Amino acid sequence: MQTHQYDVVIVGAGGAGMRAALEASGEVRTAVITKLYPTRSHTGAAQGGMCAALANVEEDNWEWHTFDTVKGGDYLVDQDAAEIMAKEAIDAIIDLEHMGLPFNRTPEGRIDQRRFGGHTRNHGEAAVRRSCYAADRTGHMILQTLYQNCVKQDVEFFNEFYVLDLITDHDLSTEDMADGAEVNATGVVAYDLATGEIHVFQAKAIIFATGGAGKIFKTTSNAHTLTGDGMALALRRGFPLEDMEFFQFHPTGLAGLGILLSEAARGEGGILRNSDGERFMERYAPTIKDLAPRDIVARSMANEVREGRGCGPNKDYVLLDLTHLEPSHIDAKLPDITEFARTYLGIEPYTDPIPVYPTAHYAMGGIPTNVEGEVLRDSHNVVKGLFAAGEVACVSVHGSNRLGTNSLLDINVFGKRAGRSAAAYSKTASFHDLPADAADRTIAQLDEMRDRPEGERVAEVRKALQETMDANAQVFRTKESLDQALADIRELQARYKNVSVQDKGQMFNTDLLEALELGFLLDLAEITVVAAINRKESRGGHYREDFPDRDDTNYMLHTMTYRRPATAGDTVDGTVENYFDHVEEFGDYKIVLGSKSVTQTRYEPMERKY
Ligand SMILES: Cc1cc2nc3c(=O)[nH]c(=O)nc-3n(C[C@H](O)[C@H](O)[C@H](O)COP(=O)(O)OP(=O)(O)OC[C@H]3O[C@@H](n4cnc5c(N)ncnc54)[C@H](O)[C@@H]3O)c2cc1C
Repeated sequence: MQTHQYDVVIVGAGGAGMRAALEASGEVRTAVITKLYPTRSHTGAAQGGMCAALANVEEDNWEWHTFDTVKGGDYLVDQDAAEIMAKEAIDAIIDLEHMGLPFNRTPEGRIDQRRFGGHTRNHGEAAVRRSCYAADRTGHMILQTLYQNCVKQDVEFFNEFYVLDLITDHDLSTEDMADGAEVNATGVVAYDLATGEIHVFQAKAIIFATGGAGKIFKTTSNAHTLTGDGMALALRRGFPLEDMEFFQFHPTGLAGLGILLSEAARGEGGILRNSDGERFMERYAPTIKDLAPRDIVARSMANEVREGRGCGPNKDYVLLDLTHLEPSHIDAKLPDITEFARTYLGIEPYTDPIPVYPTAHYAMGGIPTNVEGEVLRDSHNVVKGLFAAGEVACVSVHGSNRLGTNSLLDINVFGKRAGRSAAAYSKTASFHDLPADAADRTIAQLDEMRDRPEGERVAEVRKALQETMDANAQVFRTKESLDQALADIRELQARYKNVSVQDKGQMFNTDLLEALELGFLLDLAEITVVAAINRKESRGGHYREDFPDRDDTNYMLHTMTYRRPATAGDTVDGTVENYFDHVEEFGDYKIVLGSKSVTQTRYEPMERKY
């Protein structure tokens, strides 16, 4: 076992982690720990763009952007956070520009901008060009640019190190803490993939930037590695997760595969059609049509299929039509995604429309933070020394439905903020002693998994999990479907206790790590479904057929889910605004659902029409 000491440790080297590293590493001793080589992080797969009201090609301002974000999120957005994000968007783009990011240009040489769903002029009048982009590889450019700047700044990376535990001075998964009592994050335990060796990192401040959890679903745009590690580790240490019932289904995944075709395709003029050739979005969102927010478009598509207007032999998808666009325009603006259609479906987008269907894309929920990136341990107390940013976090700027291009923005704005806050905090804080047994829990878990001679196969349990989530917790949900998903997950949790791995070795044992990642997925799927059962309304990405309306009287609240020992009380610290007051018992533990109020500043909730 090796030990290390840094002022700031950042877990994750995607956009959020590296943006934080650029802030912190110039100020204090900083390390970045990442299970993937940095430039393989999912941020590099982002296609369509990053928005900011630059008003380079059309009139625009940050206030319209704030409004669109709040409305897009079906009013569950914390409006103070959305305002910060929209205001700081402009500097975030300029920062990247100065770091060398090659944005597409207007003929005058300004940063070009394109349309994206839900981004409008003057509170919904018409779609506005707000997304800055680099063809359809914007995320790739962001990730490479941030990495190059990290290298230039000598940021220290621990590549292919898996963080498997978070060390705190009080373990809230077993202890109750009084309101206001101090809880400190003191370090992390990591596993070096190359050698199998355990490393303990002591830190004054830790930033979780571990990205999303799309692999709880089968049909997803997310990479194989998006297993929600940071969320699951926080949950297991007794910290809450916020708004986990809200998962975004992106309208245009390649049918049957889930591989993403960016919304930029519609931003550049692409149209969705059903089996009658009808541009059906005209019926669902008469003003901005195909550029309505994702929750609305995904639901409309699923509805067309349900009502028998789907395409193909099984009538189970709709078509994304780009055939009216000039091939030269397609090549210039959408080169990668049109190549995906050719490679994976054998479709030529110049001449034929592309089969598409919604695909699990983005976790609106995550580890709750304030706008400085500090993690909350209940509805108002922070965990000292623990920060989170990016898709793993819930600030909440996306509410119940994120607008396209707001995530690349989120990771830059709140990655930067978290990096700054953590560095500033570490300058005044001191190190906390780590217990001698800090790594024992992790070592025991690894040994147990490796030593089990035979048992369930990881791939089979994972497949069963993903299938039930697709069948029962996707675009349309009911109490019955969610109960079914929960029953399946419970059974899979039991089977997981017998999972064994074939590779018993120390070096590059990805088999072993996939088994641990499956444990994270099961915990997160369970939380997602329990939170979805509890929310008896429809809002944003969470649509309950048995409760089809939004219910602001009872549900204008963030959900805070806690995993507690069976013996603990049903309120968390006795202080949570426990409106939901719902407890789900699971034998040795239970899930307690609390709530947190939504911050409203200038926008009163209204009916959402587009
Ligand atoms: C196909 C696709 C296209 C998209 N297009 C857009 C777009 O055009 N515009 C937009 O705004 N958004 C887009 N998004 C969403 C956006 O890209 C992501 O939400 C965002 O990039 C997430 O960044 P992140 O830094 O939080 O996480 P990631 O980039 O996913 O990085 C996570 C990091 O955490 C590390 N990590 C995870 N677990 C561990 C662990 N246990 N130990 C150590 N390290 C760990 C990984 O190694 C990785 O470095 C897209 C997403 C997808 C999937």
